[in-house]
Amino acid sequence: MAQKIKVKNTIVEIDGDEMARVMWAWIKEHLITPYLDVNLEYYDLGLLKREESKDQITLEAAKAIAKHGVGVKCATITPDKARVEEYKLSKQWPSPNGTIRAHLDGTIFREPITCNNIKPAVRSWKKPIIIGRHAYGDEYKAAEFTVPGPGTVELVYKPADGSQSTTLTVHEFKGRGVTLGMHNTEKSVRSFAQASITYALQRKTDLWFSAKQTILKQYDSFFMNIFQEEVNKRKMDFEKAGITYWYTLIDDTVAQIMKHPGGVLWATKNRDGDVMSDMIASGFGSLGLMTSVLVSPDGKMETEAAHGTVTRHFRLHQQGKKTSTNPTASIFAWTGALKRRGELDNTPDVVKFAEALEDANVKTIESGTVTGDLARLIHETSKPPEDSYVDTEAFIKAVAKRLESSL
Ligand code: NAP
Ligand code: MG
Repeated sequence: MAQKIKVKNTIVEIDGDEMARVMWAWIKEHLITPYLDVNLEYYDLGLLKREESKDQITLEAAKAIAKHGVGVKCATITPDKARVEEYKLSKQWPSPNGTIRAHLDGTIFREPITCNNIKPAVRSWKKPIIIGRHAYGDEYKAAEFTVPGPGTVELVYKPADGSQSTTLTVHEFKGRGVTLGMHNTEKSVRSFAQASITYALQRKTDLWFSAKQTILKQYDSFFMNIFQEEVNKRKMDFEKAGITYWYTLIDDTVAQIMKHPGGVLWATKNRDGDVMSDMIASGFGSLGLMTSVLVSPDGKMETEAAHGTVTRHFRLHQQGKKTSTNPTASIFAWTGALKRRGELDNTPDVVKFAEALEDANVKTIESGTVTGDLARLIHETSKPPEDSYVDTEAFIKAVAKRLESSL
């Protein structure tokens, strides 16, 4: 084996739980450590470590990403009541992703990995469609009220300085009904627009933003105008990157995307992103082929697989059984972080290594060596023949073999 490639600056490594954690160790052993001389600042966010540190470790990991600019994260358990019992937790700790996202004021972009033998459900999709979801406000922080009977619902704004308040009539109810008040803030929308622009420029892909300003003349125009202002500030950068910005109505975008070849970053409002990201994910194939990137307005980045800890497979692993879990999204979390590190450090050999690893992974799948989730898609059955797929570690070793011969 040739000399290891030197990664100049630190990458923050965040470990996680269950099957994702098992795969994480194998990926490092077979695909990362043998090839790279890299300083990894390690944070163990396994649920027991979060319990031990009263979740301080999560905040420390977030701070480390803010400091070093690049992090890579394994899937972690977000404890529910059953997990509190299972792990004897003193508290139902919050979602680590939520904590990290809040600390970085970040936006999440989800991107599918495409392989020529995994056919998207939509025929025109040739290149990935990256979805950015504004993860603050609107329906997700709304005040709701079931109107019990006839009466008037009003919206009142009371300025903090005590000046004249403003009152709007929402509806004069003649009978039972329902109502809600939702909000967003300029700060949050601006951060979202900035993160979307930053990531589109990094990835050199066209940027779309969609809303419904024809109906929500103030609410959605507020978003639309902030996006346009932020884009205008970066006009030169857009030209230099050779990419464009396009605003459209959400329903128009949905219609267009079904006939589009892909290769765009589509920024969406909170509710639209919730819905469309699941549609795009399932349209492209498997959760095992979906990556997720957290980007702060100033370009700090954390990469991870979009899937969770794959508990069902972990239970089999615990019984000593082999699983066929797809490590691709986790491998791409590593390559995403390495590419970003290489760009920031101006070390093209690190970027080249990451691309070689991505290529080895995709070619392994395209050559027919696949995990069970992909065999199901290829054979279009929930029970593909047993010899049509390999186990998790065998898949990782096949990628390693292909990588080795390509370097
Ligand atoms: P999940 O881990 O994403 O798994 C759901 C199902 O999707 C699996 O049972 C499996 O289907 C399939 N799947 C997901 N990833 C796969 C892969 N890499 N290869 C093959 N199949 C894959 O979701 P979950 O079971 O709902 O959640 C488990 C835990 O993960 C929870 O504790 C949750 O809190 C956590 N979680 C964490 C994150 C994160 O850290 N970002 C995100 C989501 C969930 P089959 O069973 O049909 O094989
Ligand atoms: Mg959803």
